[in-house]
Amino acid sequence: MVEIVRVSRESFPTLVEGFLRSGYRLQLAVSALTAKRKFGCDQCGATIEVWSPDDYRGILELKAGPESIERKIKCPQCQKENIRYWSKVTSLQGPLYLEPGE
Ligand SMILES: [Zn+2]
Repeated sequence: MVEIVRVSRESFPTLVEGFLRSGYRLQLAVSALTAKRKFGCDQCGATIEVWSPDDYRGILELKAGPESIERKIKCPQCQKENIRYWSKVTSLQGPLYLEPGE
């Protein structure tokens, strides 16, 4: 079973130490801030690479979200416009997984 634990910066070292001492293994996943994403052109399927517009929007989507930014991206191959939306990453901190050790 995997539990996601959210902790403050101050209590983090103590908490992790406590878990490690009681036989847990620690897995830390950190997500990058600005991100490069790839998608296929709607018209010709060519792979198009794009960079996120800022540190907070790292998810590239087909549909607009509540605070997403619209981008019209011209396909370098067929010159057709592709519309994509950059959405906010819900948390800039990566999830922290503490699993029972073997
Ligand atoms: Zn294209």
